[in-house]
Amino acid sequence: MEDKNMLMIPGPTPVPERVLLAMAKHPIGHRSGDFGKIMAEVTENLKWLHQTSNDVLALTASGTGVMEAGIINFLSAGDRVLVGVNGKFGDRWAKVSQAYGLQVEIISAPWGEPLDPELFRAQLEADKEKAIKAVIITHSETSTGVLNDLETINKYVKEHGESLIIVDAVTSLGAVNVPIDTWGLDVVASGSQKGYMIPPGLGFVAVSEKAWLAQEKATLPRFYLDLKPYSKSAAKNTTPFTPPVNLIFGLQESMKMMKAEGLSNIFARHRRLTEATRSAVKALGLKLLAPDSATSTAVTAVEPAPLKAEEIRAIMKKRFDIALAGGQDSLKGKIFRIGHLGFVSDRDILTAISALEATLQEIGHEGLKPGAGVAAAAQVFAQS
Ligand SMILES: *Cc1c(COP(=O)(O)O)cnc(C)c1O
Repeated sequence: MEDKNMLMIPGPTPVPERVLLAMAKHPIGHRSGDFGKIMAEVTENLKWLHQTSNDVLALTASGTGVMEAGIINFLSAGDRVLVGVNGKFGDRWAKVSQAYGLQVEIISAPWGEPLDPELFRAQLEADKEKAIKAVIITHSETSTGVLNDLETINKYVKEHGESLIIVDAVTSLGAVNVPIDTWGLDVVASGSQKGYMIPPGLGFVAVSEKAWLAQEKATLPRFYLDLKPYSKSAAKNTTPFTPPVNLIFGLQESMKMMKAEGLSNIFARHRRLTEATRSAVKALGLKLLAPDSATSTAVTAVEPAPLKAEEIRAIMKKRFDIALAGGQDSLKGKIFRIGHLGFVSDRDILTAISALEATLQEIGHEGLKPGAGVAAAAQVFAQS
């Protein structure tokens, strides 16, 4: 059946009808007073969402674009940086850093496990010359569904004193608490197609005072991604270049929805969706990739061996019009990922889990107890 498509991937995420309707308007001039008013409202709400009084800048870029901006604005060629790599995205930030001639030291963990904060502490403590200029961390590693211990790693960065902390919060912002000012995070990047409940196309980056000071001395080349003009323009409720006006209309609406729900309710909902999904997967006798102690609240990765992840995904898509994500790189064909980020409700999880059960039944999953997954998810919902 057409038009019954259900997105259960970790981005792009589902978009509420209210947001779609807000976007279905003729664009207005981005230098007009009317647009300035919208920018003023959106900028204030972005600060609320980021729990910061610092700049939160919006760029026309995907998440990778703003993360690249977050790296290159504050560093110079040859600067020493520590990059946490335990998945596809951590790997990407190491590659970006290398592309710009930074001296990259990778601190890794196997894909599916969290980074060990003690490895960061050891490197930072040993750096008596204060040569380490930045620690670059992916908070929620979307490729594996692992949540890294940003709070502890950041504590060690603060003890070091010199280094900035640059965070990919693309699938943690709006899904789990990221108190930017309380923790003193310097650079925090995110993207519109994840927790924001709007389509792809906008990237966001929060910048601390300390990072702005570092920017004055940073010499990597930058133009479109130079954050200073964005900051200067934001103070005047405008943008240096033409923004995606209709996406900003959508953002204005989605921020209203988020404010009405409230931050703590948003985080509690994501936690509940995650617990229900994980509980259901366990009840179906499938293996979870991320450990209970380090789970992203945006996405759950499932290792269905000996069943084939790609077969499960294909049946879910063909028979139930539910899009699940596959594995990337070394996890290709080994896992499937259930996204539960943004505009996702308890009902969506019950639907996805029941379709997964029907899929497993069709494949002939040994020992499957039909209904066990839905029952486990429902029990989580009844208790929270
Ligand atoms: C989606 C995502 C990004 C950004 O990817 P783009 O395709 O550039 O928007 C970055 N980091 C993580 C952890 C993500 O999930």
